[in-house]
Amino acid sequence: MTYPERDPNCLFCKIIAGEIPAKKLLETPDAIVIADINPQAPVHVLAIPRRHIPSAAALTPADATTLLAVIAAANTVARDTGIEATGYRLVMNHGADAGQSVDHLHVHLLGGRALGWPPG
Ligand code: AMP
Ligand code: ZN
Repeated sequence: MTYPERDPNCLFCKIIAGEIPAKKLLETPDAIVIADINPQAPVHVLAIPRRHIPSAAALTPADATTLLAVIAAANTVARDTGIEATGYRLVMNHGADAGQSVDHLHVHLLGGRALGWPPG
């Protein structure tokens, strides 16, 4: 896919373009990490590809480099916030039953407390 791809109606595309403010913790060539606006754990951030990929279900082998960049960005913030030592969870929601509310792929990084399993 060509880079960058953008959906003009997408919240995360607008945040990436700087049109909507967000607390950005990390910016890399292929990904950004922002603080979640409604945190569910002491550390709750979203690692987001700059390209508009609608969800994990849309991934193809051509997206491998982008997906690795997203996970690497999340791992960097996990290290920087100290939760690599205590543990963390990476989550991608797809569709209604999983509660996906923004149709631009994002990986939740959650940590800083013991996380229940299975998730609700
Ligand atoms: P999901 O439900 O997996 O699609 O995750 C979307 C996440 O985006 C939720 O955890 C929301 O709290 C978060 N969110 C929604 N709007 C914003 C925003 N403007 N800035 C940061 N995070 C947001
Ligand atoms: Zn988007």
